[in-house]
Amino acid sequence: MDIGFIGLGKMGFPMARRLIEAGHQLVVFDQRKEAVDQLVARGAQAAMSPRDVADRVETVLASLPSLQASLDVATGDNGVSSGERVKRFVDLSTIGSQMAVRIHDLLAKQNIVQLDSPVSGGVAGAEKGTLAVMVSGPRADFEMLKPVLDVIGKVFFIGEKPGSAQTMKLANNFLSATAIVATSEAVVMGVKAGLDPAVMIDVINAGSGINSASRDKFPKSVLPRTFDFGFATGLMVKDVRLCLEEAKSLGLSLDVAEAVGKLWEVVIREMGAESDFTAAIQPIEQRAGVVVGGKPV
Ligand code: NAD
Repeated sequence: MDIGFIGLGKMGFPMARRLIEAGHQLVVFDQRKEAVDQLVARGAQAAMSPRDVADRVETVLASLPSLQASLDVATGDNGVSSGERVKRFVDLSTIGSQMAVRIHDLLAKQNIVQLDSPVSGGVAGAEKGTLAVMVSGPRADFEMLKPVLDVIGKVFFIGEKPGSAQTMKLANNFLSATAIVATSEAVVMGVKAGLDPAVMIDVINAGSGINSASRDKFPKSVLPRTFDFGFATGLMVKDVRLCLEEAKSLGLSLDVAEAVGKLWEVVIREMGAESDFTAAIQPIEQRAGVVVGGKPV
């Protein structure tokens, strides 16, 4: 199938690479020319703008880092909505349901179908094609697209209501964000009391405290102090803020989410938006006066 792909970053690049390897013809665009060049070397065609992509294919996928980037790419000057061939826009980014509905409504005016398709599972999941792919939008377009999305992960149809896959994704990422800061607090407490953090993680992973941070993030990026899991703090904070907005728009006040949100605001203030999200443990360590894990490498 001919597919457009816009946004070739940590997630977009490996997803696009897998689609090429599965035999799809890709037309790609990113603001970073080096990312485009690397995919052209693997058989993709380069485009000059989102509109150029949308002039050449019916189905355009995007994996972008902010709400504004999704809005601009979909509906801005030279955006997908001005393309001649495009019939559907599939947003793999996490943008929250309100922005998804806004983009849906703008694209509908041009008879372009929008499918929300946020993903979970990190860079490793994107490399291996094992992401959780959550889709909302018209069922017929979903069925048509499913063989394409099967290449990047396990696909779930959430519903036809625009934005509902975004709500699903925010619920998931709230839990992921909670796991990191909660596991950090648990391990910092143990280290302060003299426990070995590597033993703590082994015990937690054999016990009832196991979670995605203790299972994946601590062994790979926190205990070795490489802080290189592949998801920026700025993106995690974007998702936590979106989750809190989502709850507010539903008239809910979620106590745990609010506490988690406050902790992540400290992380972004002290570690910066570009830091890896596994660095969330460092402000907690500093306040406790301990360091968890090995020496920096
Ligand atoms: P990233 O910053 O690594 O990649 C974004 C890419 O988009 C970059 O290559 C950038 O040059 C490009 N870009 C930005 N604005 C653009 C524009 N206007 N036109 C064309 N290209 C543009 O981000 P990422 O980590 O790949 O995340 C992308 C999305 O996936 C985000 O919504 C994020 O929340 C979500 N996500 C990320 C992960 C992860 O582990 N990194 C996991 C699940 C979901």
